[in-house]
Amino acid sequence: MAGQVANTHGGSSASRPGPPAAERLAGLLRDSGCTVALTGAGVSVPSGIPDFRTPGEGIWEKVDPMEVAHIDAFRRDPARFWGFYRQRLRMLGEKEPNDAHRALAELERRGLLEAVITQNIDTLHQRAGSERVIEVHGSIRTSSCQSCGAAFRLEAVEDLFDEGGAAICPQCGGDVKPDVVLFGELLPADAIAEAEALADRADLMLCVGSSLEVYPVAGLPSVTLRGGGRLAVITRGPTPFDSDAAVRMDGDVVADLDAVLAAL
Ligand code: ZN
Repeated sequence: MAGQVANTHGGSSASRPGPPAAERLAGLLRDSGCTVALTGAGVSVPSGIPDFRTPGEGIWEKVDPMEVAHIDAFRRDPARFWGFYRQRLRMLGEKEPNDAHRALAELERRGLLEAVITQNIDTLHQRAGSERVIEVHGSIRTSSCQSCGAAFRLEAVEDLFDEGGAAICPQCGGDVKPDVVLFGELLPADAIAEAEALADRADLMLCVGSSLEVYPVAGLPSVTLRGGGRLAVITRGPTPFDSDAAVRMDGDVVADLDAVLAAL
């Protein structure tokens, strides 16, 4: 933030007539010494991964994620938990990155983006080429034995299921759990600390595909604003930070990011 004294932000710039939002954001990206992206489910929707908060979509339609994807549900009955989560893991593992993931990877390649902080567990940012990705909700990349700590890559998990449908550690017989943050679990402290440090240092935070309502992601834009940085919010639907955003785009996330890349 050093040297940036006239860093104004607030609602005025969002509604002020001027160049199209994509060009304004391209200008902010060029001027920013440190830009960090913060992404949520909306980035992966074009890859065919429904946002579970969207009613009536996909496999979350028939279940309450707060109940079935809760750490207590796993501890009580791992086979029942896996009866649901096995299908989710397989589904997520088959998805491919889309152009929104690729646009963020391209910004990093061009030296315009320091890191991606994501709530998504699907690993699609890395598969699109992003190098520095902070996963605040963990990921499907590995699953771990809750007794001995042995870790198993996504491809190996299918081999762990017993006849009852629970994933069992071949080394100690313990229960294996995906390394994603389930409801009721603590967030990974290292990832949270890194995300907060980045948010604090950012001249510009690019909030993409998130309603910015779920902790910890909901707290990070405020950290950037307090440090004198600006926000760009690219997502469909309202967020609590719309009036604070220097740039607000609410169209298709792929088209919006493509427009920003084209304007650079
Ligand atoms: Zn084990």
